[in-house]
Amino acid sequence: MTEKLFYEDSHLQQFTAIVQDCVKTNEGYQIVLDKTAFFPEGGGQYADTGWLYVEAVPGEDHMDGGGVPKTETELVQILDVQETDGIIYHKADRPLAVGSVVHGQIEWSERFMKMQQHTGEHIVSGLVHAAFGYDNVGFHLGNTDCTMDFNGAVSAEELQKIELLANEAVVKNLDVEVLYPSKEELAQMEYRSKIEIEGQVRIVTIAGYDTCACCAPHVKKTGEIGMIRLTDVARYKGGVRVTMLCGFRALADYRQKSASVRQISNLLCAKEDAVSEAVLHLKEECAGLKQKLTDSKQKLLEYKVKELDAGQEVVCLFEDGLEGEEPRILMNFVLKNGHKMCAVFWKSEKNGQETENPASADDYRYFIGSTS
Ligand SMILES: [Zn+2]
Repeated sequence: MTEKLFYEDSHLQQFTAIVQDCVKTNEGYQIVLDKTAFFPEGGGQYADTGWLYVEAVPGEDHMDGGGVPKTETELVQILDVQETDGIIYHKADRPLAVGSVVHGQIEWSERFMKMQQHTGEHIVSGLVHAAFGYDNVGFHLGNTDCTMDFNGAVSAEELQKIELLANEAVVKNLDVEVLYPSKEELAQMEYRSKIEIEGQVRIVTIAGYDTCACCAPHVKKTGEIGMIRLTDVARYKGGVRVTMLCGFRALADYRQKSASVRQISNLLCAKEDAVSEAVLHLKEECAGLKQKLTDSKQKLLEYKVKELDAGQEVVCLFEDGLEGEEPRILMNFVLKNGHKMCAVFWKSEKNGQETENPASADDYRYFIGSTS
């Protein structure tokens, strides 16, 4: 069994361990250490990444560097981490000798960001459970956002209240406690994710907000989560899927959206809080101009027809750029003008969907009509 240092201290970024096994695989190497701070994939959360480097190889005096890698080539990248039967496997890009003393460094900004999302999820799920009795039946912490599936409907308005309460839990800067209750104590406890788990159950508690069985590392104080933003809610499998961004992800989202609104506001010469009105106005203006253009085009076609020789019985017209009903309108103008038969050929960028029954001859489409 690998000793799990992330349970002793969720904020441990560096550690020293001994290589116990190293096996070549199709995708690189699989390294087993006696202990690790790398959290493996599990519970809806993807694995930590980071580096290992050799401090000492058995039989070699390798300690003179003070634990600092001498060259970059001594760094071993940890690309994925998986756990099977209590043993943690580190997927690495190069091998390490069994018995080596290695120094581990986890990609801390990524891990801390994940802890922000995961602890935020506990608060939101606890609040939803308390308010509506719904369970979080699916949690996914992805590369860009984090989703929670609840087995009941919650409206966008109701979620705004939940979001506010969740942020209150953040500013209260509460302890995130981890308990390892005995079987007897556990039987007496009320907590989420109550399923039969073999062995020791780990309970994560945020007083007044949530108690949940969970295996993932969390922040120590709710203040570390930063802002909790519920950005989307959609119907999902008889319940809802809620999308959430916490902490630095919420900040990145806010920055991106602010930049977007600023750009739109500059382009439309409108105040930032009035851009949607300005866009609506622009759309209406655009629709009005389109109508004017259609009217002008029809007038133009009418004039063209009036210029035709009045005695001409059969008229054949080639017109590029006709759209929508314009070919039919043009044909009707010709027949109304006293000509007996008319063929309209046109080439249009939007050819295809806009007419009922046009035939196609190479690039041109055509309509043929007569008065009889
Ligand atoms: Zn959890």
